[in-house]
Amino acid sequence: MLTVKNVEVVYNDVIQVLRGVSLTVEKGRITALLGANGAGKTTLLRAVSGLLDIHDGEVTKGQIELGGRAIHGWQPAKIVSAGLGQVLEGRRVFAEFTVEENLRIGGHTRRGGLNDSIEEIYQLFPVLKERRRRTAGYLSGGEQQMLAMGRALMADPQVLLLDEPSLGLAPRMVQQIKDLVVKVNQERGTTVLLVEQNAMMALSIAHHGYVMEQGKIVMDDDAEKLMDNEDIRDFYLGRG
Ligand code: ATP
Repeated sequence: MLTVKNVEVVYNDVIQVLRGVSLTVEKGRITALLGANGAGKTTLLRAVSGLLDIHDGEVTKGQIELGGRAIHGWQPAKIVSAGLGQVLEGRRVFAEFTVEENLRIGGHTRRGGLNDSIEEIYQLFPVLKERRRRTAGYLSGGEQQMLAMGRALMADPQVLLLDEPSLGLAPRMVQQIKDLVVKVNQERGTTVLLVEQNAMMALSIAHHGYVMEQGKIVMDDDAEKLMDNEDIRDFYLGRG
């Protein structure tokens, strides 16, 4: 569904952050991308979604394909139209707009059926329905994360990129977000690339996982096997 082949990324013409990254996100599955702070995970997502430019970054080598089409060099809006949705790190909702307005903005590329889509999102995330007239900036962190996911889903993406959805959330909320990612994957059939520092959270719901260190993929395997791997347990999961 989404393939990244041998991609290198440089910021400000000098700082090389990705050093030949290859990964495959299989259709219908949840793929986890793990790695410590600064490993280059967000950079990889920016490369895929066409958002490197605004961060003074550039793909200097490699290929990125979505559904068999080379998308490298496309404008972000065109990549969204091609079926890629994403929730950026820090769940940037439009704080001054209501929940429902945020969802409408997410669906602006659709030709029709906007109200039906909003209803579908409300079924997935009932709390958003309860809060539909609230200003998004006043929602809790977990609710904003749900809204950011709901907004991305309004464009009906085939692949959804999630950048650290559990960041800064209380454990109960992390559990809810986890359940929602599974629900989106199973009920809508959305393919997911989940970037997380919370390796346990990600591997517990992913089918496959990749581990990135200093701009390179250093390991990839079935999520279950990664969870059993001694090195992964020591480094990312902690012991005891
Ligand atoms: P985090 O979990 O902290 O987001 P990450 O694995 O997503 O980490 P990136 O955000 O991709 O890592 O950052 C990787 C490296 O690229 C870091 O060393 C960071 O300082 C550098 N970097 C990120 N954005 C830029 C930028 N716009 N200009 C220069 N360097 C950048």
